Amino acid sequence: SWANVPAGPPDPILGISEAFKADKSPRKINLGVGAYRDEHGKPYVLQTVKKAEEAIRDQIPDKEYLPITGLPEFTARAALLAYGADSDPLTRGAISVTQSISGTGALRIGGAFLARHYPHAKAIYLPTPTWGNHIPLFRDSGLEVRSYRYFDKENVSLDFEGLKSDLLSAPEGSVVLLHACAHNPTGIDPTPEQWAIISDVVKEKKLFPFFDMAYQGFASGDIARDAFAVRHFVAQGHQVALAQSFAKNMGLYGERTGAFSLTVADPEEKARVDSQLKIIIRPMYSNPPAHGARIASTILGDTALYSQWESEVKGMAERIITMREKIYSLLTHDLKTPGEWGHIKSQIGMFSFTGLKPDQTKAMAEKAHIYMTADGRISMAGLNAGNVQYFAESVDAVVRG
Ligand code: PMP
Repeated sequence: SWANVPAGPPDPILGISEAFKADKSPRKINLGVGAYRDEHGKPYVLQTVKKAEEAIRDQIPDKEYLPITGLPEFTARAALLAYGADSDPLTRGAISVTQSISGTGALRIGGAFLARHYPHAKAIYLPTPTWGNHIPLFRDSGLEVRSYRYFDKENVSLDFEGLKSDLLSAPEGSVVLLHACAHNPTGIDPTPEQWAIISDVVKEKKLFPFFDMAYQGFASGDIARDAFAVRHFVAQGHQVALAQSFAKNMGLYGERTGAFSLTVADPEEKARVDSQLKIIIRPMYSNPPAHGARIASTILGDTALYSQWESEVKGMAERIITMREKIYSLLTHDLKTPGEWGHIKSQIGMFSFTGLKPDQTKAMAEKAHIYMTADGRISMAGLNAGNVQYFAESVDAVVRG
């Protein structure tokens, strides 16, 4: 029996939600979990998702299984969204793609495929810090997890020299995981010029780039701009692996909608790679859920819905950007909070690394009922016009001690 099974530690992020739920204060704010909230702090279902669901309800009468690699029109449209219409491998039929259980499942299929078929070193380099789940996920996929420097704590900025030097000293053939945009948890991305240098280093050292793109459109509000890094690498002749999620940019969190793809040499190689993706997926979960893929596919495949969706994504991204500006101006100009807060404004995407220390984040929870991860990361989406002033005043109070 299970007498010797030790109790594991609670999940560091989902644990915060529990503490939040137990808090009785009406002022409480949950900045732990990375799910978008509207200006009233409520979960948000996109209008385009509602429209797509109506169309699906009318057109699709059954609940039959999808193929192992998912809904073909969905995966084709997902690849088009990521790589762009003028992508060379896309136009040559040289992208192997499968539907996945959202971004997490895409990363896991990729990890398993590399562990089984990548002929080089089985080490994957992850940025420090990275999304917490990357580490156990790739370890459980059968890869050896190593790290490269990413964050400069002192200056709350990208440690570009550290990043370059760590990638330059990685053994040839290593896999390197890159956050395509809106790096989680820091909110700090390389500039286009820095991406070009990273691409050169990856090429020179013969590393294999694996992009995690969980926030396309959500970072800047612009689909193409957020895909810059992926498209640049592909244009530079790299073969890449890519994990896509529609959790954030379509708000499809619980529908588990995503895609994993690999650029390959040609259609013949694609056929072989496709067959091995099926061999990995079939014993894992047989085939993916249909509903979210139908929603995403309907939106991506319809000109009017697509352009409405683009403006909805932009709306979410802009609301977050407005909150960043508001916090910055409250702390810097109104409250004159000690310290430098420019990073809150310049960081990108759902999260911000505030620079608050663990004892300060603890004080935020205990004194102000504001919950965030111990590393000082906040989900910007939890802030709105109704609570941002209170948030800034609470930060000011803990910083002053
Ligand atoms: N990668 C990163 C960097 C993320 O932040 C997330 C979501 N928090 C994911 C992948 C995967 O999310 P999902 O499985 O919900 O698509």
